[in-house]
Parts: sequence; structure tokens; C-alpha cells
Amino acid sequence: MEDKLSNCRRCGKIFVQNRHALCQQCLQEEEAEYRKIYDFIRKRKSREASVAEVMAETGVAHDRIMKFVREERLRTIVSDRHKSQT
Ligand SMILES: [Zn+2]
Repeated sequence: MEDKLSNCRRCGKIFVQNRHALCQQCLQEEEAEYRKIYDFIRKRKSREASVAEVMAETGVAHDRIMKFVREERLRTIVSDRHKSQT
């Protein structure tokens, strides 16, 4: 089997490619961020939160939150309607 090298999508480091396109360290960081957001939303009665609320409560960057939303890992987040659509 041949290992393919790739640049990490997040930190740019060269690593052996996996299905996440992230190096091991970034993968762990991303999991930790996801957990934080998940726990925060789970505690809410409505199971919903705006991106701004999640950012304020968890300290996770906007881009990262939106990435989870795009990947449909965080379906319950209500997008911040005041932000311009991308
Ligand atoms: Zn990385």
C-alpha cells in the first residue's frame, strides 16, 4: 500500500492523506471544537442556537462553525441571518 502525502487543509502541514484531509493534530482540534459546540447546543431547551451565540459561548471561529454546518454535523444551528449569504 502506498501512502499519499497531502497538505493539511487547516494548518498546511504535510501529512499522510486520510479521508478527512486534515493532519492528526488538526483532526483532534476539530473534534474538540465540535464537541464543545455539540454540548452547548444539547443543553439548550430548543436545541437551536445562532452562529453568533455559538461563537460567544464556545469561542470557536465562525469559519469552523460554518464548516460543521456545511457538513451537516450541526443541523440545529440557525444561521445568523444578519450575515451576508455566501
Ligand atoms: Zn493540520
